[in-house]
Amino acid sequence: MSSPSGEPRSGAPGTDSLLTGWGLTMPTRARVVQARDVAEVVDAVTTRGPRGVLARGAGRSYGDAAQNAGGTVIDVAALDDVEVLPDGDVVAGAGALFSRLVPELLSRGRFLPVTPGTRFVTVGGAVAADVHGKNHHRDGSFGAHVRWVDIVTADGAVRRLSTEGEDARLAAATIGGMGLTGVIVAARFATIAAPSSYLRVDTTRHGDLDSLMARMVEIDATRRYSVAWVDGTARGPALGRGVLTVGEHAEHAPTGRRDAVPVRPRASLPRLPVSPLTKVSVSAFNELWFRRAPRSRDGELQSVAAFFYPLDAVGGWNRLYGRRGFLQYQFVVPDEAGGVVRTVLERLSAVGAASFLSVLKRFGPGRPESPLSFPMPGWTLALDLPVATPGLAAVLDELDGEVLAAGGRHYLAKDSRAVPATIRTGYDGLDRFRAVRDELDPDRAFISDLSRRLDL
Ligand SMILES: Cc1cc2nc3c(=O)[nH]c(=O)nc-3n(C[C@H](O)[C@H](O)[C@H](O)COP(=O)(O)OP(=O)(O)OC[C@H]3O[C@@H](n4cnc5c(N)ncnc54)[C@H](O)[C@@H]3O)c2cc1C
Repeated sequence: MSSPSGEPRSGAPGTDSLLTGWGLTMPTRARVVQARDVAEVVDAVTTRGPRGVLARGAGRSYGDAAQNAGGTVIDVAALDDVEVLPDGDVVAGAGALFSRLVPELLSRGRFLPVTPGTRFVTVGGAVAADVHGKNHHRDGSFGAHVRWVDIVTADGAVRRLSTEGEDARLAAATIGGMGLTGVIVAARFATIAAPSSYLRVDTTRHGDLDSLMARMVEIDATRRYSVAWVDGTARGPALGRGVLTVGEHAEHAPTGRRDAVPVRPRASLPRLPVSPLTKVSVSAFNELWFRRAPRSRDGELQSVAAFFYPLDAVGGWNRLYGRRGFLQYQFVVPDEAGGVVRTVLERLSAVGAASFLSVLKRFGPGRPESPLSFPMPGWTLALDLPVATPGLAAVLDELDGEVLAAGGRHYLAKDSRAVPATIRTGYDGLDRFRAVRDELDPDRAFISDLSRRLDL
């Protein structure tokens, strides 16, 4: 077999590399194969060793989901062909980054149907984690917009799984399946109309959690996008105070402004020997952030980059947490258990866990057909927490219990610390997922540090 460039192919050797997730915790070594095309993916899958194989996208999951200690990891970055079809659908290689898709789509008056809070994710990673955005209450998760996925299965076959028809069950398990059904090499998904690269944004500041949550419920029906930044360090009556931003795609860019989205971060953070994030600095930052927000402002035009991807402006911001890294605790609870949001904020603030970034969102109906898809109707809270916080592990273990007792669950793409029972209880479709794996991959060729840790 030879590659399109004519070079002989002998099963790419790969490079021994130390990998982590975005949280920079739990590094493990793997043989990383940079696949140049689908045939090289097939090679890497079929020449895997006893520790199995896994696809990796841009490494933006927080924990160990895109790692495979002692095994093979396939980097699919080179599979990045993108085609926008006349009907607005996108056919993209799994390695295509959202940062590349966004300008391409906007230039045609279209936008991603769902985007996470960073544009440095791949199409493969977005499908595998079934990512959600600020519009879940309106548009669901990414998987709801996928028409088909092409995957390389454990036997080296390339299969097109349509989300409708006889393979729908396999496609649905691949959506949210965290790379455990095969390597996604391409996908087709729908897009939405976006007349400009700006959004019309309303901002309101809320001095306490109840007023913030009440407003979020109210606004669900009228705004496509909605997200609240919550002050994770406030206590007492101010607990859970926050700033709510809601938006819609705007018809025009502001006069005199260029209608464009930067593809790369504007600045990059160097490696820091010591983290500047202390309890005091985080509290001060949160205070400032809260005060700086307008009490109420309507109709502000914000660029796509500012509204969806504020954190992307600084490359490598995860290094802010220093060498020990950080974790993100993200859970969802049903509407009637909204009180768990308060409990989590109270208990974390009681142990002095200083969350620099805490985000509260609303979810609409989930995708029960995708057994490992995270969203379900209700509230989702995500908090970035330095792992060095004393007492953090114990309090999070307790909070896991609260979330599960309320009928909620935790997001695999963010997880770095859960135990198998936590996931088994939260995801009642786990056995259905295992049945699909039995069918597609009975020998468990596809495996990750996360799937070993959580016994998926
Ligand atoms: C700043 C920031 C903000 C974020 N905001 C959100 C958010 O708002 N909503 C949200 O849902 N998520 C969010 N995330 C998480 C992120 O969207 C997901 O973790 C996503 O999966 C990352 O994509 P990736 O390409 O980096 O995949 P990776 O992190 O490399 O991989 C994630 C998982 O997908 C699998 N995978 C990757 N590529 C393939 C493939 N080609 N075939 C099969 N499996 C594959 C991997 O094996 C792994 O299990 C955020 C992350 C960051 C860093």
